[in-house]
Amino acid sequence: MKKAKQIEKIFSRPSRPGMVGDGFRVYNYFPNGYAIREKLSPFLMLDFGPAFDFGPSDHPRGVDVHPHKGFETVTIAYKGSVEHYDSAGNSGVINPGDVQWMTAGSGILHKEFHEKEFSKNGGPFEMIQLWVNLPKKDKLTKPHYQSLVSAEINKVKLQDNGGEVNIIAGNFNGTKGSANTFTELNVLDIRLNKNGTLTTDIPNEHNTAILVVEGNIEVNGQNANEHNFILFKNDGETINIKANEKSVLLLLSGVPINEPIAQYGPFVMNTQQELQETFMEYQSGKFGVLN
Ligand code: MN
Repeated sequence: MKKAKQIEKIFSRPSRPGMVGDGFRVYNYFPNGYAIREKLSPFLMLDFGPAFDFGPSDHPRGVDVHPHKGFETVTIAYKGSVEHYDSAGNSGVINPGDVQWMTAGSGILHKEFHEKEFSKNGGPFEMIQLWVNLPKKDKLTKPHYQSLVSAEINKVKLQDNGGEVNIIAGNFNGTKGSANTFTELNVLDIRLNKNGTLTTDIPNEHNTAILVVEGNIEVNGQNANEHNFILFKNDGETINIKANEKSVLLLLSGVPINEPIAQYGPFVMNTQQELQETFMEYQSGKFGVLN
Protein backbone atom coordinates (compact mmCIF):
# COMPACT_ATOMS: atom_id res chain seq x y z
CA MET A 1 0.00 0.00 0.00
CA LYS A 2 1.28 3.41 -0.94
CA LYS A 3 0.99 6.31 1.45
CA ALA A 4 -1.83 8.85 1.13
CA LYS A 5 -0.63 12.12 -0.39
CA GLN A 6 -0.62 14.67 2.43
CA ILE A 7 -2.57 17.93 2.06
CA GLU A 8 -0.57 21.11 2.63
CA LYS A 9 -3.50 23.50 2.61
CA ILE A 10 -6.98 24.05 1.20
CA PHE A 11 -7.31 27.60 -0.11
CA SER A 12 -10.57 29.50 -0.49
CA ARG A 13 -11.37 31.27 -3.73
CA PRO A 14 -9.63 34.65 -3.96
CA SER A 15 -12.01 37.32 -2.69
CA ARG A 16 -12.40 39.35 -5.89
CA PRO A 17 -12.36 38.54 -9.58
CA GLY A 18 -10.29 40.60 -11.98
CA MET A 19 -10.99 41.37 -15.62
CA VAL A 20 -8.69 40.28 -18.43
CA GLY A 21 -9.77 42.55 -21.27
CA ASP A 22 -13.55 42.93 -21.09
CA GLY A 23 -14.42 39.27 -21.61
CA PHE A 24 -12.65 37.20 -18.99
CA ARG A 25 -13.88 37.64 -15.42
CA VAL A 26 -11.40 35.50 -13.55
CA TYR A 27 -10.17 34.61 -10.10
CA ASN A 28 -6.40 34.44 -10.10
CA TYR A 29 -5.46 31.53 -7.82
CA PHE A 30 -1.78 32.07 -8.45
CA PRO A 31 0.68 33.76 -8.71
CA ASN A 32 -1.27 36.66 -7.15
CA GLY A 33 -2.96 36.43 -3.81
CA TYR A 34 -1.22 33.39 -2.42
CA ALA A 35 2.33 32.08 -2.46
CA ILE A 36 1.20 28.96 -4.31
CA ARG A 37 3.31 29.26 -7.45
CA GLU A 38 6.61 28.40 -5.76
CA LYS A 39 5.09 25.05 -4.86
CA LEU A 40 3.50 24.36 -8.23
CA SER A 41 6.24 24.52 -10.86
CA PRO A 42 5.93 23.84 -13.82
CA PHE A 43 2.59 25.68 -13.54
CA LEU A 44 2.99 29.47 -13.59
CA MET A 45 -0.54 30.79 -13.40
CA LEU A 46 -4.14 29.70 -12.93
CA ASP A 47 -7.02 31.99 -13.87
CA PHE A 48 -10.49 30.55 -13.29
CA GLY A 49 -13.60 32.29 -14.61
CA PRO A 50 -16.62 30.55 -13.02
CA ALA A 51 -19.90 30.63 -14.94
CA PHE A 52 -20.90 34.24 -15.58
CA ASP A 53 -23.42 35.62 -18.05
CA PHE A 54 -22.11 38.79 -19.69
CA GLY A 55 -25.39 39.19 -21.62
CA PRO A 56 -25.85 39.60 -25.37
CA SER A 57 -23.36 41.80 -27.20
CA ASP A 58 -22.87 42.69 -30.86
CA HIS A 59 -19.14 43.22 -30.31
CA PRO A 60 -17.47 40.08 -28.95
CA ARG A 61 -15.90 40.66 -25.54
CA GLY A 62 -12.37 39.54 -24.95
CA VAL A 63 -8.74 40.57 -24.90
CA ASP A 64 -7.16 42.29 -27.88
CA VAL A 65 -3.74 41.71 -29.43
CA HIS A 66 -1.02 40.77 -26.91
CA PRO A 67 2.23 38.77 -26.96
CA HIS A 68 3.43 35.63 -25.16
CA LYS A 69 6.92 34.14 -25.02
CA GLY A 70 8.74 31.37 -23.18
CA PHE A 71 5.84 29.23 -21.96
CA GLU A 72 2.51 27.61 -22.89
CA THR A 73 -1.07 28.76 -22.37
CA VAL A 74 -3.75 26.14 -21.86
CA THR A 75 -7.35 27.27 -22.30
CA ILE A 76 -10.07 24.95 -21.03
CA ALA A 77 -13.65 25.88 -22.01
CA TYR A 78 -16.42 24.65 -19.70
CA LYS A 79 -19.31 26.84 -20.87
CA GLY A 80 -19.47 29.22 -23.82
CA SER A 81 -16.95 29.45 -26.68
CA VAL A 82 -13.67 31.30 -27.23
CA GLU A 83 -12.36 32.42 -30.60
CA HIS A 84 -8.68 33.18 -31.17
CA TYR A 85 -6.45 34.63 -33.88
CA ASP A 86 -2.68 34.82 -34.01
CA SER A 87 0.14 36.51 -35.90
CA ALA A 88 1.01 33.29 -37.76
CA GLY A 89 -2.43 33.32 -39.38
CA ASN A 90 -3.95 30.63 -37.18
CA SER A 91 -7.46 30.94 -35.82
CA GLY A 92 -10.03 28.68 -34.25
CA VAL A 93 -12.87 28.22 -31.79
CA ILE A 94 -12.63 26.51 -28.41
CA ASN A 95 -16.04 25.02 -27.54
CA PRO A 96 -17.22 23.55 -24.21
CA GLY A 97 -15.08 20.53 -23.29
CA ASP A 98 -12.37 21.54 -25.76
CA VAL A 99 -8.86 22.51 -24.78
CA GLN A 100 -6.39 24.69 -26.63
CA TRP A 101 -2.78 24.01 -25.72
CA MET A 102 -0.75 26.86 -27.19
CA THR A 103 3.03 26.72 -27.09
CA ALA A 104 4.10 30.37 -27.33
CA GLY A 105 7.76 29.32 -27.36
CA SER A 106 9.92 31.86 -29.19
CA GLY A 107 7.07 34.38 -29.33
CA ILE A 108 3.61 34.97 -30.69
CA LEU A 109 0.96 37.69 -30.88
CA HIS A 110 -2.65 36.68 -30.44
CA LYS A 111 -6.10 37.83 -29.39
CA GLU A 112 -8.82 35.94 -27.56
CA PHE A 113 -12.55 36.77 -27.77
CA HIS A 114 -15.92 35.26 -27.04
CA GLU A 115 -17.11 33.49 -30.18
CA LYS A 116 -19.34 35.71 -32.37
CA GLU A 117 -22.61 33.73 -32.25
CA PHE A 118 -22.18 33.06 -28.54
CA SER A 119 -21.66 36.80 -27.99
CA LYS A 120 -24.88 37.69 -29.83
CA ASN A 121 -26.95 35.40 -27.64
CA GLY A 122 -25.12 35.68 -24.33
CA GLY A 123 -25.27 32.87 -21.76
CA PRO A 124 -23.04 31.40 -19.08
CA PHE A 125 -19.34 31.61 -19.87
CA GLU A 126 -16.93 29.49 -17.85
CA MET A 127 -13.28 28.86 -18.58
CA ILE A 128 -9.82 28.32 -17.19
CA GLN A 129 -6.51 29.58 -18.44
CA LEU A 130 -3.46 27.80 -17.15
CA TRP A 131 0.13 28.84 -17.90
CA VAL A 132 2.75 26.09 -18.09
CA ASN A 133 6.43 26.96 -18.01
CA LEU A 134 8.90 25.64 -20.57
CA PRO A 135 12.35 24.39 -19.57
CA LYS A 136 15.23 26.62 -20.64
CA LYS A 137 16.19 24.30 -23.51
CA ASP A 138 12.70 24.56 -25.06
CA LYS A 139 11.82 28.23 -24.46
CA LEU A 140 12.63 29.22 -28.03
CA THR A 141 10.75 26.36 -29.64
CA LYS A 142 8.62 27.26 -32.68
CA PRO A 143 5.14 28.46 -31.65
CA HIS A 144 2.41 25.87 -32.25
CA TYR A 145 -1.02 24.71 -31.15
CA GLN A 146 -2.62 21.52 -30.03
CA SER A 147 -6.36 21.89 -30.54
CA LEU A 148 -7.92 19.18 -28.44
CA VAL A 149 -11.57 18.65 -29.32
CA SER A 150 -13.75 17.28 -26.51
CA ALA A 151 -14.74 14.06 -28.28
CA GLU A 152 -11.11 13.28 -29.11
CA ILE A 153 -9.61 13.81 -25.65
CA ASN A 154 -8.57 10.47 -24.15
CA LYS A 155 -11.09 9.39 -21.51
CA VAL A 156 -11.39 6.83 -18.75
CA LYS A 157 -14.78 5.79 -17.31
CA LEU A 158 -14.73 5.38 -13.54
CA GLN A 159 -16.11 2.28 -11.82
CA ASP A 160 -19.75 2.03 -10.70
CA ASN A 161 -20.89 4.87 -12.96
CA GLY A 162 -18.71 7.20 -10.86
CA GLY A 163 -18.00 9.56 -13.72
CA GLU A 164 -15.14 10.04 -16.15
CA VAL A 165 -11.69 11.53 -16.47
CA ASN A 166 -10.68 13.52 -19.55
CA ILE A 167 -6.93 13.10 -19.71
CA ILE A 168 -5.83 16.41 -21.20
CA ALA A 169 -2.14 15.67 -20.60
CA GLY A 170 0.03 13.14 -18.80
CA ASN A 171 -1.67 9.92 -17.79
CA PHE A 172 -4.39 8.62 -15.55
CA ASN A 173 -4.04 5.13 -14.05
CA GLY A 174 -2.05 3.98 -17.07
CA THR A 175 -4.01 5.67 -19.86
CA LYS A 176 -2.08 8.33 -21.73
CA GLY A 177 -3.27 11.93 -22.11
CA SER A 178 -3.92 13.77 -25.37
CA ALA A 179 -1.48 16.70 -25.30
CA ASN A 180 2.24 16.42 -25.91
CA THR A 181 4.21 18.18 -23.19
CA PHE A 182 7.83 19.28 -22.78
CA THR A 183 8.13 18.12 -19.17
CA GLU A 184 6.43 15.38 -17.16
CA LEU A 185 3.04 16.66 -15.98
CA ASN A 186 -0.63 15.77 -15.64
CA VAL A 187 -3.67 17.90 -16.43
CA LEU A 188 -6.89 16.00 -15.71
CA ASP A 189 -10.46 17.21 -16.25
CA ILE A 190 -12.40 15.07 -13.77
CA ARG A 191 -16.21 14.78 -13.90
CA LEU A 192 -17.71 12.89 -10.95
CA ASN A 193 -21.29 11.85 -10.39
CA LYS A 194 -22.77 12.11 -6.90
CA ASN A 195 -21.02 9.49 -4.69
CA GLY A 196 -18.56 8.78 -7.51
CA THR A 197 -15.08 7.82 -6.32
CA LEU A 198 -11.62 8.05 -7.82
CA THR A 199 -8.28 6.68 -6.68
CA THR A 200 -4.98 7.47 -8.31
CA ASP A 201 -1.29 7.56 -7.44
CA ILE A 202 0.81 10.58 -8.32
CA PRO A 203 4.55 10.43 -7.72
CA ASN A 204 5.99 12.11 -4.66
CA GLU A 205 8.21 14.42 -6.71
CA HIS A 206 5.24 15.87 -8.63
CA ASN A 207 3.92 19.17 -7.34
CA THR A 208 0.19 18.53 -7.09
CA ALA A 209 -3.06 20.48 -6.68
CA ILE A 210 -6.80 20.17 -7.36
CA LEU A 211 -9.25 22.96 -8.16
CA VAL A 212 -12.91 22.26 -7.35
CA VAL A 213 -14.51 23.85 -10.42
CA GLU A 214 -17.97 22.71 -9.40
CA GLY A 215 -19.42 20.65 -6.58
CA ASN A 216 -18.09 19.40 -3.29
CA ILE A 217 -15.74 16.53 -2.52
CA GLU A 218 -13.97 14.61 0.18
CA VAL A 219 -10.28 14.25 -0.64
CA ASN A 220 -7.98 12.11 1.51
CA GLY A 221 -10.37 12.55 4.43
CA GLN A 222 -10.84 16.32 4.16
CA ASN A 223 -13.79 18.22 2.75
CA ALA A 224 -13.28 20.67 -0.11
CA ASN A 225 -16.04 22.93 -1.37
CA GLU A 226 -16.81 24.56 -4.68
CA HIS A 227 -13.95 26.83 -5.86
CA ASN A 228 -11.55 25.57 -3.19
CA PHE A 229 -7.96 24.89 -4.26
CA ILE A 230 -6.24 21.93 -2.64
CA LEU A 231 -2.45 22.07 -2.52
CA PHE A 232 -0.67 18.82 -1.65
CA LYS A 233 2.69 18.25 0.02
CA ASN A 234 5.41 16.31 -1.79
CA ASP A 235 4.72 13.53 0.66
CA GLY A 236 2.81 10.37 -0.27
CA GLU A 237 1.25 9.24 -3.54
CA THR A 238 -2.33 8.10 -3.24
CA ILE A 239 -5.25 10.47 -3.78
CA ASN A 240 -8.73 9.23 -2.83
CA ILE A 241 -11.68 11.36 -3.87
CA LYS A 242 -15.38 10.93 -3.18
CA ALA A 243 -17.91 13.35 -4.66
CA ASN A 244 -20.54 14.53 -2.18
CA GLU A 245 -22.48 15.85 -5.17
CA LYS A 246 -21.96 16.03 -8.92
CA SER A 247 -18.51 17.63 -9.22
CA VAL A 248 -16.03 18.93 -11.76
CA LEU A 249 -12.35 18.99 -10.77
CA LEU A 250 -9.11 20.07 -12.40
CA LEU A 251 -6.11 18.10 -11.21
CA LEU A 252 -2.65 19.53 -11.92
CA SER A 253 0.63 17.83 -11.18
CA GLY A 254 4.13 17.88 -12.54
CA VAL A 255 7.84 17.52 -11.96
CA PRO A 256 9.15 20.98 -11.02
CA ILE A 257 11.41 22.85 -13.44
CA ASN A 258 14.22 23.89 -11.14
CA GLU A 259 15.43 26.87 -13.17
CA PRO A 260 15.28 30.60 -12.43
CA ILE A 261 12.18 32.50 -13.59
CA ALA A 262 12.42 36.05 -14.96
CA GLN A 263 8.90 37.22 -15.74
CA TYR A 264 7.36 40.41 -16.95
CA GLY A 265 3.65 39.95 -17.70
CA PRO A 266 3.30 37.66 -20.71
CA PHE A 267 7.07 37.02 -21.07
CA VAL A 268 8.61 34.24 -18.98
CA MET A 269 12.34 33.72 -19.43
CA ASN A 270 15.25 32.68 -17.18
CA THR A 271 17.25 35.92 -16.85
CA GLN A 272 16.68 39.69 -16.82
CA GLN A 273 18.87 40.00 -19.88
CA GLU A 274 16.64 37.59 -21.82
CA LEU A 275 13.63 39.66 -20.75
CA GLN A 276 15.27 42.83 -22.07
CA GLU A 277 16.07 41.11 -25.36
CA THR A 278 12.45 39.98 -25.52
CA PHE A 279 11.21 43.58 -25.11
CA MET A 280 13.46 44.68 -27.94
CA GLU A 281 12.24 41.88 -30.20
CA TYR A 282 8.65 42.76 -29.37
CA GLN A 283 9.14 46.47 -30.00
CA SER A 284 10.94 45.88 -33.27
CA GLY A 285 8.07 43.75 -34.60
CA LYS A 286 9.74 40.34 -34.43
CA PHE A 287 6.56 38.84 -32.98
CA GLY A 288 4.83 39.49 -36.30
CA VAL A 289 1.74 41.52 -37.08
CA LEU A 290 -1.86 41.08 -36.02
CA ASN A 291 -4.65 43.61 -36.38
MN1 MN B 1 -3.12 35.29 -24.36
